[in-house]
Amino acid sequence: MLSRLELVGFKSFADKTRLDFSPGVTAVVGPNGSGKSNVVDAVRWILGEQSAKSLRGGEMADVIFNGSSSRKSLGMAEVTVTFDNARRLLGVDADEVQVTRRVYRDGTGEYLINGMMSRLKDIKDIFLGTGAGSGGYTIIAQGRVDELLQASTKDRREIFDEAAGISRFKAKKNEALRK
Ligand code: ATP
Ligand code: MG
Repeated sequence: MLSRLELVGFKSFADKTRLDFSPGVTAVVGPNGSGKSNVVDAVRWILGEQSAKSLRGGEMADVIFNGSSSRKSLGMAEVTVTFDNARRLLGVDADEVQVTRRVYRDGTGEYLINGMMSRLKDIKDIFLGTGAGSGGYTIIAQGRVDELLQASTKDRREIFDEAAGISRFKAKKNEALRK
């Protein structure tokens, strides 16, 4: 379903970098410090991650390329992810869904869905119930398996609700009840 990831100025990726995912398993290999985890951070970030700490930074602008011995820092980080949506698994009526997130040095930023300015909530809505959103189980970070095993019954229930696609209806119900 994930078909492409494009990074510009995100962490160590100063130059525009494009990764194409073909069906099957994709492995990212490289020496220590070459940016493998940064690719995973980019996917987490584009799915709406709001915690700079979980992206291994102090503040959100830390994801912007901060320069190297041969290159000056940049003012913006941009990540675009493309999903194949032929089966309409995401809540958008288009064959392809492209989500872009940008952040600037002052910490402000924006989201685009298929080129249209959007809110973080719209991004979350698209992925809710697919298991792909931030906090979902699509990205299993180090230590997370243990966390799931240690989780309270309530937390574990939430994980199963998300996996079964129930959480999207619960969120809609709660939204309706608040109105
Ligand atoms: P390992 O095999 O040790 O896990 P890795 O391939 O996962 O390594 P990453 O953690 O993805 O490596 O990359 C770390 C590198 O990214 C470091 O060299 C760090 O300096 C660089 N880096 C992180 N944030 C930025 C930034 N904002 N600007 C420039 N470089 C950055
Ligand atoms: Mg790593």
